[in-house]
Amino acid sequence: MLAIKDVDTAGDWGNSALVSVDLDDSWCYLRTHGEQNWQTTPSVLSVATDRLVPLFAHLGIRVTVFAVGRDAEVGAGREAVCAFFESGHEVANHSMNHRFDLARLSPSEMSNDIARSADAIATATGVVPVGFRCPSFGSGETLHQVLAAQKYAYDASLLPTSLGPILRWYHRRTMSRATRESIGSPELFGPAADALLPLTPFRWSWDGGELLEIPVTTMPVLRTPMHMSYLHALTEKAPGLASAYLRLGLRLASWRNVPMSFLIHPPDIIDRHDAPDLAYLPGMRRPWQEKLDYVRRTLLEITETREQMTHAQFADRCDDRRHGSHHQGFELE
Ligand SMILES: [Zn+2]
Repeated sequence: MLAIKDVDTAGDWGNSALVSVDLDDSWCYLRTHGEQNWQTTPSVLSVATDRLVPLFAHLGIRVTVFAVGRDAEVGAGREAVCAFFESGHEVANHSMNHRFDLARLSPSEMSNDIARSADAIATATGVVPVGFRCPSFGSGETLHQVLAAQKYAYDASLLPTSLGPILRWYHRRTMSRATRESIGSPELFGPAADALLPLTPFRWSWDGGELLEIPVTTMPVLRTPMHMSYLHALTEKAPGLASAYLRLGLRLASWRNVPMSFLIHPPDIIDRHDAPDLAYLPGMRRPWQEKLDYVRRTLLEITETREQMTHAQFADRCDDRRHGSHHQGFELE
């Protein structure tokens, strides 16, 4: 029976900012979207990397890049992974084949996929990844046990949002009927019950094991998403609303002592000219320069008053606090 424990609400989390990039290439979107041309679509990883690496250097931040093993093996994907790594960013594991149903595979299939991806990343960078994010925010006991068995320091797959069912419905509505029928009901955006899980770091726990979870931050109280793609979508509807929404989210996060784990995807900084096959995604009509500048302003707002660190550094801090508190007789300060 899976339980959660050590919900650490007493750390100085409200002052922490973690920025991550899910390095999903065009094929990941097209495949999840059920498009036939997913294997031949041009990569967007070079262009995304050429924009993000200088931006992070300009802001002086180190981020965590969740890389797909299949891309880390060769070509533009491998070059992108190496460019992030050589610029001082953490490269973590986002699975081998970016299967939206990864969390539903058998333990051996799942274990094999995750281990192959870790190998591909370690071959590219020389460093074995210590963190994992499941495609489509998948979660579950099997996944946590596989990660613990492979000695992962943390999982970062959880998106505790109340909008999961709505986002799922919207996503399915944009697929063709044949695709919907062939892929069944993918657990995109996590199950509805995830909305009730903590926003502060905690540990999944089961008989004989445990695993640190670092959730993607959603709006405290409301549990609506706060990642970059969501802000872009809000900006399309009402620019003033998007900035007020982010400001409210940051205030609530500070007030509730929630770390700001902020997520970026490649489509957040590219446009339909960069990737015609992805033109169906929201916000692709806006010029990339405008989108990149919005990402810059957002990251500045998030990081200027918070201590910014990678997920691995944050996981170390969680462990230090725990061991420190154990010395004090299991009391959290
Ligand atoms: Zn992904």
